[in-house]
Amino acid sequence: MNNLELWQAALGEIELSISKANFSTWFKNTTILSRENGKVIIGVPNGFAKEWLENKYNTYIFRALRNFQEDIREINCVIYNLDQAPHNNEAKQNDLTPQGGGIKSVENPYAYTPQSAVVAQATYVQKAYENNINHRYTFENFIIGENNELARAACYAVSQNLGKVYNPLFIYGGVGLGKTHLLQSIGNEVLENDPAKKIKYITSERFANELIDSIRNQTVNDFKSAYSAIDLLIIDDVQFLAGKEKTQIEFFHIFNTLYQINKQIVISSDRPPKAIATLEDRLRSRFEGGMIADIGQPDLETRMAILKTKAAEKNFYLDEEAIRFIAENVKNNIRELEGALNRIVAACEFNNKLPTLKFVQQALSEIISAGKKKGVQAQNIIDTVSQYFNIPIKELIEKGRKKEISYARQIAMYIMRTELNSSYPGIGSQFGGRDHTTAMHAYEKVSKDIEASEKVKEDVALITEKLYSV
Ligand code: ADP
Ligand code: MG
Repeated sequence: MNNLELWQAALGEIELSISKANFSTWFKNTTILSRENGKVIIGVPNGFAKEWLENKYNTYIFRALRNFQEDIREINCVIYNLDQAPHNNEAKQNDLTPQGGGIKSVENPYAYTPQSAVVAQATYVQKAYENNINHRYTFENFIIGENNELARAACYAVSQNLGKVYNPLFIYGGVGLGKTHLLQSIGNEVLENDPAKKIKYITSERFANELIDSIRNQTVNDFKSAYSAIDLLIIDDVQFLAGKEKTQIEFFHIFNTLYQINKQIVISSDRPPKAIATLEDRLRSRFEGGMIADIGQPDLETRMAILKTKAAEKNFYLDEEAIRFIAENVKNNIRELEGALNRIVAACEFNNKLPTLKFVQQALSEIISAGKKKGVQAQNIIDTVSQYFNIPIKELIEKGRKKEISYARQIAMYIMRTELNSSYPGIGSQFGGRDHTTAMHAYEKVSKDIEASEKVKEDVALITEKLYSV
């Protein structure tokens, strides 16, 4: 077996024993550089891969290699330049790696010269440019658990090597699991290391709205040139670009401009690029070309650790039993966990009670049953659903029978029932005086579909989330 064959064989084994995301993140563009007297040197593309391979995956690598070559005794990783790799055919095709092809900035009209940077900076100040970075979200106060370890490591790596390691970095995961927190942490970390860096955090919805404004005001070119001067562009919740074709096209151009001059792009979404319906193919393949990391559901230990930290931040003392009780009962996501903690703190203060287990149990049961009703009305639901699916309100309410429209309408009816506890005739009347049986049917159908389809579940969760987030 030559080195290439040995490494291919070993990778085949390793791939079976770790998660797909971890495998492609840490083992992409690795190779055996040399093998002598039982000592193997593995070439890795950057310091992060070196650290992870040596510390975390050491035993996996050992085991896999020794399957094929029993005399292997020692493994070392070194950072190497892909161009010098002994077997670099595959690696060379991947222009997303630090040393990979890509268009060099000298050839690019947007190339950075100190002067153009100054001009860009000045234009920014004129426009009262805001980076939208929130100081509350940092790596320091982000609790690491198995569910977010990979995403966190990737974000941290990016913050230390803008435009050099994973570009674009795509983070996905369900609602309230820490995507925004991580994305913002990158911004804070970068600014801390170099306050001169130009950063922009924006949700994809705001991006779309700004773009539409600039089209209306005939300032699209300014809009684009402002974006092309950014060092780190963070686009949160990119799933909201689904179906917005024009925005996607402009975003694609901005994306390419930044990417070609090695500027960092970080994107989040509630689902992987593949699962974003009506995402332009070339945009999708751009997203997939970088690094993709997911955030999963936190396990009990992680939820407890987060609660402990958050309570300590508030100088609120909760004993282990109470923490465990909350963490066992609030499982969906971290936002809800924080919400529950805040309510308990408030209940203790209001009643002037200590947070004993008994008090916490009682308070929490009230919280859970009171739900999150907070002044939301039927019209808010219609507006939110219309925005979410990008369907005009008129069509949602009137008779349209197109599949997408009736799907959106049923979701709206369902949410009215679950969130507002509206009566069926009441719901019917919100939708152009439809019969109560229509509302009832919608509720029953969506209830069933939520169980069967991830997409339906996500749509409902995201709309509900948006509903309460304004
Ligand atoms: P998402 O963007 O995925 O919907 P957020 O980033 O808004 O979620 O997270 C929701 C809340 O939970 C935020 O207040 C955030 O600070 C907190 N949070 C999420 N994950 C963590 C974590 N691992 N450690 C500490 N706080 C967290
Ligand atoms: Mg978010």
